[in-house]
This record gives sequence, C-alpha cells and structure tokens, in this order.
Amino acid sequence: MLSIRSLYQVGYGPSSSHTMGPAKAVNIIKEELPDLDFYEITLYNSLALTGKGHFTEEIIKGSLAPCHVTFFSLIDIHKHPNTLLIKGYKNNELMIEKEVQSVGGGRIVFVGEEEKEELIYPLHTFKEIRNYCRDHKVSLSEYVYMIEGEGFHEFLEDIWEAMKTSIKNGISTRGTLPGPLKLKRKAPDLYDFDQDNEVPEITENRLVSSYAFAVSEENASGGIIVTAPTCGACGVLPAVLYYMLEKHSFITEDQIIDSLAVAGLIGNLIKHNASISGAVAGCQAEIGSACAMAAAAHATLFHLKLDQVEYAAEIAIEHHLGLTCDPVNGYVQIPCIERNAVAALRAIDACGLAYFLSDSRKISLDMVIQTMYQTGLDMHSSYKETSQGGLAQYYKEDDDVNCW
Ligand code: SF4
Repeated sequence: MLSIRSLYQVGYGPSSSHTMGPAKAVNIIKEELPDLDFYEITLYNSLALTGKGHFTEEIIKGSLAPCHVTFFSLIDIHKHPNTLLIKGYKNNELMIEKEVQSVGGGRIVFVGEEEKEELIYPLHTFKEIRNYCRDHKVSLSEYVYMIEGEGFHEFLEDIWEAMKTSIKNGISTRGTLPGPLKLKRKAPDLYDFDQDNEVPEITENRLVSSYAFAVSEENASGGIIVTAPTCGACGVLPAVLYYMLEKHSFITEDQIIDSLAVAGLIGNLIKHNASISGAVAGCQAEIGSACAMAAAAHATLFHLKLDQVEYAAEIAIEHHLGLTCDPVNGYVQIPCIERNAVAALRAIDACGLAYFLSDSRKISLDMVIQTMYQTGLDMHSSYKETSQGGLAQYYKEDDDVNCW
C-alpha cells in the first residue's frame, strides 16, 4: 500500500478525481514541456459526462493554456472510467501524447509508465495487520506511525487543522452554491439553534450534520478541503471527529491525530484492495469508505478493542453496499452533501453496534471490501458518476416537492 500521505490531500474541491487528478496531470505535462504552443485534451467516460459540473474544464484551462478540451460523450469500455488524453504541439507538430487515468482520491496513473510512488506497507489486508498488531502488542495507530516514519504525526496535525478550518468556514458562510441547482448553503442554519433547549439526540444529529454539510458545501463551492478519502466524501470524517472532540472533555487533540492515522489505514486498505472512486465502484466506494474510516476513528477515540474497530468499519461499508453515484446535473451537490451527513451519523451508530455485538460477527473487513469492489464492478455505468441514471436521470427542476 502507498503512504497515507497520498490518501489525505489538502486541495480545492469539488472532486478529487475530476479536478485534483486532472490538475495534477496537466501540471506534470506543463513542467515536462513548458514551451509548447497548444494542447488538446480529450476527456472520456465519467470525466466527460460529469466534467462540466465538476469544473474539470476550468481546472485544466487554468493550468494549461492555450488548450482545447473535448468531451467524448460515449462510454468507451476499453478505457478507465476517468481517462484524459493529453496532446501537446509545437509548430503544429505533435510533441507529446499521454493517456492518464484519474483513479480516485486525486491519484493519477500515466498509462504505460512505471508507478512513481513507493508501496511502503508490507502488509495489505486487515487480517495481516491485525495479526501483526496482536503478535507485537502494538495498536493500529502505533503500527501506522512505525510504517509512515518521521514527520507523520506532524503531517496529520496539518491535516486536522485543514479539516477544522473547512468546518469553521462552512458553518459561517451563507449563500448559494455554484451551478444551475441554486442550492442554498445549509450548514449555518443547521448549526445555529438553541442547544440548551433541545433533546440530546436532536443536538447530536444537528451538530454532526452541520459539520458534514459545512465541509461538503465548502467542497461544492470549490473551497479548500481534505480528501477523506475523496472530495465528494470529505465531510464525513471531520464531522464525526470535530463533534466528538467538542462533546467529550476526555478526548484530546492527540487522540484525534491517532484516530486519523487509523482512519487513514482503513481508507488505504480500501484504496489498495478495491477502489475509493465513484466512477469505478459507485458511491459505496466514496461515502461507504468515508463512513468506514469515520467509524474506525470513532472506535479508536473510545479505546475499543482491535476486533471492535474492525467491526465498526465493516458495518459502515456493509450497509452502504450497492450505493450508486448519481450526481444531479453532474454537480457534487445532490445527493452528495446530504449523504455526507447521513454517513457521519451512520458511522457513530456503526461504532455503537460494534461495541455491543463484536463477539457474534461473521463478516470480516477484508471480506466486505472485496464484496464492495465486486458489487461496484458489476454496477451499470449509469450509476458510476456518469449522471445517466438514478436521481440524475429523474430529477426535474419544477417537481413540486413542497406541496404537502
Ligand atoms: S454521489 Fe457519492 S460518489 Fe457520486 S459524486 Fe456524490 S459523493 Fe461522490
């Protein structure tokens, strides 16, 4: 597995695979050959079908100019779901031609070229890692620090700061999100209520939701967020951690950092053994993964046993199996923003259930990750970030949803 440093990335929303990945690709090309006259970029599959709503064209043109972007709008099953073909010309002569895959979470692969990032984890299933931790009497976070080496705690501190900033920005920013849906930002309204006169369950629900909305609305408006594991699912993990830190005086910032290490390990296992990309495996791979990371982080904060941490993450994925990716008009707004809040609440529930029931569990985390991936591969392309099915297909602007 790669370092968790490549999982958590601070950057601009709204999409790790549709904005961060393509931006990285064109910047690498520009660095390699800075003096070209003209570039032609062709986007395929999900990148072509939802690239407008995800601001892919703007991001590319902002870095690589002059350039022409073509959206190839028929599904090409021979290409990766997020493919860019980049061509560069000098004096009308083709100087460079590269096919790039944006594989999720902002990571890119140049087709036919060797992987530049090093695989630093020798173990790549939860079972192997669990056995190692048991045999060597180390916790999951200690295992992560051991593999990641010097400076990793500081890296996670920066990640946590960026997560907190996106929450604070989101709950204090009113207005409308970009795009034709004209969605009102709702985080400040969710956050602003009389907590003293509310029952505890409602308070928890509203606060956790407000934090998840805050980060997701920052993402949808092109603000700075942390991929956890992706832009679309960036609100789940920070919402749970921020709420728990505020609510429980026994939780320290240091414990939050340790729980981020464990969440990163879970995200890394999914990324390595399956996918964290909605275009590859549907929303179960994005929101389901984020929920598993948050559930494991929550379990770590409460000092749950290794088995219970695993079970919390497993429950979180299991009950997102089959979840499709169907962003309306190609914008990371509906159903994405609300879905982050629901997944954050579900992560807390998953942890509670794991605490009570871990002795009787039958499904391992590794098994559910495999199941999620196969389910995603079997899913029709209409439901994998192409905006051709689901809510994206049935949404009508004039549907009267408020008639009752
Ligand atoms: S529906 Fe899920 S996977 Fe698809 S863009 Fe939204 S958050 Fe990402």
